[in-house]
Amino acid sequence: MSTAPEAAADQAKQFISYEVRDAVAWVMLDRAEYANTQNYRLLNQLDDAFKRAVDDPAVSVIVLGGKGKHFSAGHDLGTPEKDRHLERERKLLWYDHRDLPGAESQYVLEQDVYLGFCRRWQELPKPMIAMVQGACVAGGLMLAWVCDMIVASEDAFFQDPVVRMGVPGVEYFAHAFELPPRIAREFLLLGERMPAARAHHFGMVNRLVARDQLEAEVEKIAVEMAQRPRFGVALTKQSINFVEDLRGKRQAMDGVFHMHHLAHAHNQLTTGSLAAGMGAKEMASANKAQAGEG
Ligand code: ZN
Repeated sequence: MSTAPEAAADQAKQFISYEVRDAVAWVMLDRAEYANTQNYRLLNQLDDAFKRAVDDPAVSVIVLGGKGKHFSAGHDLGTPEKDRHLERERKLLWYDHRDLPGAESQYVLEQDVYLGFCRRWQELPKPMIAMVQGACVAGGLMLAWVCDMIVASEDAFFQDPVVRMGVPGVEYFAHAFELPPRIAREFLLLGERMPAARAHHFGMVNRLVARDQLEAEVEKIAVEMAQRPRFGVALTKQSINFVEDLRGKRQAMDGVFHMHHLAHAHNQLTTGSLAAGMGAKEMASANKAQAGEG
């Protein structure tokens, strides 16, 4: 248990960096020591950074990247800064998830900071470009997918291995919209790492560049995009979101979210754990073994 002063210090820790250059806000996940895994404070700070970029008339385009070797290895399953127990600053309308019985706690948490946040970010009126290197895994996919463009370096890979945990993919279920359905099945059922070149082939990645060219390429695109009229850009984003929703994206995501929570509840009932006993260590070693990294 944290004492009160420790909890206050924990809340102040920064996991995101923010910089504006030439009408572009560079929002960077800044937790490289843990492969930019996402705890709840990081997600709240990400929401703050996006709001700051939207509020700033000098910002026209938002870049979302990750410092270090990896874009993001997913939700925080077990670092020392895992913070499920801390009080969250609640930015959407759900109540505190802590100390709730049965399936309610995880449901409230995930409606709020996974599904709720991702939908809110997808609807930001300013265009967002994901800049992806290294691992983009599970919760990392969610952050890349809410962006308007994904630019990846050749070393990047995409993976959703959570079927090992007995759940049908991450909470923001865009898999079958981002990839052809046959490939989405493979992506989930085998949970393998998809190299950036293959993701590019299927249209999930807009541009593929050498690692040392990644930032320059993203900057070039962002600066060009920043020259378009603000309202026209906002309406263009809304247009694509509208078409995707007409294709069923929003409803599909609602339906699958509830399957996801049936899976969490089933896991809890049968194994005593939301993820069927698969924690950070077990997932990391299974992933490494599958990728031939022993
Ligand atoms: Zn979940």
